[in-house]
Amino acid sequence: MKFFFTSTAIAAVMSKQSCTAFTPTKTVVSPNQSTYAAKTLKGGLQLRSTLIDEADATTQRLTKEKESHHDYISQNNNNMKKSYLDDGFVFGLDGSGLERPRGKEASVVVEGDSLETTPQQVGIVFATFAGHAFFAASSILNLLSQTDGDIGTTSLISLSVIITSWIMADFGSGVFHWSVDNYGNGKTPIMGNIIAAFQGHHSAPWTITYRGFSNNVWKLCIPFGIPTITAINYIAGPENPMGACKCWYYMISYTWCSIDWFSFPTVTLFFAVFCAIEIMSQELHKWSHMTKSETPAWVNTLQDLGISIGRVPHAKHHIAPYDGNYCIVSGLCNEALDKSGFFRWMEHKIYEWNGVESNAWKLDPELRARTLRGDYSLPQ
Ligand SMILES: [Zn+2]
Ligand SMILES: [Zn+2]
Repeated sequence: MKFFFTSTAIAAVMSKQSCTAFTPTKTVVSPNQSTYAAKTLKGGLQLRSTLIDEADATTQRLTKEKESHHDYISQNNNNMKKSYLDDGFVFGLDGSGLERPRGKEASVVVEGDSLETTPQQVGIVFATFAGHAFFAASSILNLLSQTDGDIGTTSLISLSVIITSWIMADFGSGVFHWSVDNYGNGKTPIMGNIIAAFQGHHSAPWTITYRGFSNNVWKLCIPFGIPTITAINYIAGPENPMGACKCWYYMISYTWCSIDWFSFPTVTLFFAVFCAIEIMSQELHKWSHMTKSETPAWVNTLQDLGISIGRVPHAKHHIAPYDGNYCIVSGLCNEALDKSGFFRWMEHKIYEWNGVESNAWKLDPELRARTLRGDYSLPQ
């Protein structure tokens, strides 16, 4: 009430001042004109009338300018809404530029992107998987020589490394998905297209089901491609520059096992499989958006076995503010990550470090407030 009266009083003073400002005799008339006005009533009335007309014309001109300026701004805003490049991020918020199409209409958000598979995409994907297969095969051969040709031991070690890699790839897909959903935008260097594609996926999720295999996965060949695995292979190799860092490991491992788990064969095998699965994660993700009748029977079996992300677990991610169920390989790590509040903890740390807020916070102020209080759990 007090606020109302105060506001009313201020508004009244303001409106009084503005009325006064537009009273011609007080603000516009010069001393000479006043003298002249006093000389003849007729002349005075004429002057007053002229000044009022001038004031009216000025008011009209200002109103017109204001209107055209307003039109310009709203036109500009409308233009800005059309591009994902002009937004901090592209999904969820009002005016973020992406409309949710009705029905199962495909919506491609990245400029230059299309649903059509190109020979270039096929080439990139084929070369990348061939490279990963080469690194994996040479790792296993090296392991075989390390075990003096013991096929049983080599198979056991290789299988355990591959299974560990598959589990960690699920965790990795969750961290990767969370990072591109929540930070950066289409303008971010190198990762811009991937970020826009992930964030845009929330506005028309079914678009992914219209993509062919290479068209769907090729973008992930950039962060998880041959240069990445080549660098890892070099670092983990026998002549690696990080050899000194492994001293602690040698002291422990050689007491019970003659195999150097953290040298070339096992580390390279782990990351060759890891990178290949990360690239494949977009295809596994695509299957989770298709109906059972649209996917082959073996895909449905993989989903039933929990090897590939299921439809129901992934559907839980597609609820604003998109704050959980980020893992898209098997979904095995989702529950542990969401219940432990891992991603909220990360968001809190990032906010404390550089003041950047996650997109999930922007969409859900309650989530933001809870996280800042240190309550990282998601509501069940
Ligand atoms: Zn997402
Ligand atoms: Zn999805």
